Amino acid sequence: MGDKEIKPLKYRILTYGCQMNVRDSETIAGLLEGSGFNQAEDLSEADLILFNTCSVRHSAENKVYGKLGEIASLKKKRPELLIAFGGCMAQLPEVRQKLKKSGVDVVFGTHNIHELPYLIARAQEERNPVFEVWEKEGRIVEPLPSCRKPGLSAFVNIMFGCNNFCSYCIVPYTRGRERSRKADDILRELEELAAAGYKEVTLLGQNVNSYGCGLEEKIEFADLLYRANSVAGIERIRFTTSHPKDVSDRLLQAIAECEKVCEHIHAPLQAGSNRILQRMNRNYSREHYLKLVERMRHYVPGVSITSDLIVGFPGETEEDFQDTLDMVEKVRFDAAFTFMYSQRSGTRAAEFAEQIPLEEKKQRLERLNRLQYQIATEINQELEGSIQEVLVEGPSKTNPQKLTSRTRSNRIVIFSGGKDLIGRLINVKITEAKTFSLFGEFFDE
Ligand code: SAM
Ligand code: SF4
Repeated sequence: MGDKEIKPLKYRILTYGCQMNVRDSETIAGLLEGSGFNQAEDLSEADLILFNTCSVRHSAENKVYGKLGEIASLKKKRPELLIAFGGCMAQLPEVRQKLKKSGVDVVFGTHNIHELPYLIARAQEERNPVFEVWEKEGRIVEPLPSCRKPGLSAFVNIMFGCNNFCSYCIVPYTRGRERSRKADDILRELEELAAAGYKEVTLLGQNVNSYGCGLEEKIEFADLLYRANSVAGIERIRFTTSHPKDVSDRLLQAIAECEKVCEHIHAPLQAGSNRILQRMNRNYSREHYLKLVERMRHYVPGVSITSDLIVGFPGETEEDFQDTLDMVEKVRFDAAFTFMYSQRSGTRAAEFAEQIPLEEKKQRLERLNRLQYQIATEINQELEGSIQEVLVEGPSKTNPQKLTSRTRSNRIVIFSGGKDLIGRLINVKITEAKTFSLFGEFFDE
């Protein structure tokens, strides 16, 4: 009898939620490949299915539970299938309780991703579910392997966690306290990305403005931008998110001076009423935000300002909601992500009386979207006839005959052109504007 060939096991990751989770999934893929797994083409051929979950809103959790039910019934037919469950939901004790009899083999949290290969090996060996979640963040583990999709744009963590405790938000509980990565580690990653052909990076943090706090080296986010700006091969630098309470003049100056840093600031307002902002624990007022908008437009002419907005926060009256609409009209956001407030158990706002009925939240969301879409369309229309520098990303998903690209302000521009343009920074002339995208033609001067 000859030696039996051992087939490498295949994995598939299901990622939910924000850019941080997308980035974590790249690390998870790197760890799995490092321990001998290969990526499966689809779920049906995977030996390991891993959920990287989000708990920021109830709807995100529901999606995960729906899919988990589906995968658990697959496991009934294929008992050897391994299911792993990580990310923000795994940090919550009530979720872990629910997972006890769900067919999940490995549960890991946001603070111990690096332990994953060991936890999977344990589950395989012991043939029993392994639940290992760290309640508290440890030191940042550097370097971790990474398996990024080849492409032009890459996400780069500059910090983890959050200290702000906005009263509605689960993130400080699932991601721990704020920790910044050392600038040298970040810069090294940018250099590696440039060497691998990436042209654009998005620097990620829950509040990038407080980058550097707690590091031995005295460094602020503005300094990091200046240093990132000098990495050869990286042509565009984006960042998210900026908390409106602490955008310094020095930071705005850096955005203006660093030619690779795109003129786009995502500074979520969340709500327009001072009473609600206070109850949200946001630590700024509408007046402060309006002054910030003035300063952003003063230092960075033409800057694109985008926001997150929540409707139906507990106790939000029609008058409070009108204040949000009023701010949207005054600021004229280039774009906004709009959400209905979702009650997150363990957060302060979950205990507030006067939760708003779902129907009311839905109506407010619709009214807010109508206004925001109208404003975004008007702003986009002002760009008709203008020449915009775009980074060409590839064939358009909606029309593969055309190319899709992005302006410095993060607007999508669809246009006709040869495949040789992919990966290049070129100029396009905007010919037509819609609410969420622009259309243009290659402008070769
Ligand atoms: N750190 C970022 C900041 O402060 O802007 C945002 C992180 S959070 C993952 C993204 C957005 O989700 C928030 O800006 C907020 O608008 C929204 N969000 C957070 N908790 C929410 C909740 N309980 N209900 C509805 N939306 C929520
Ligand atoms: Fe959540 Fe506020 Fe922290 Fe953003 S700043 S992650 S909204 S607590």
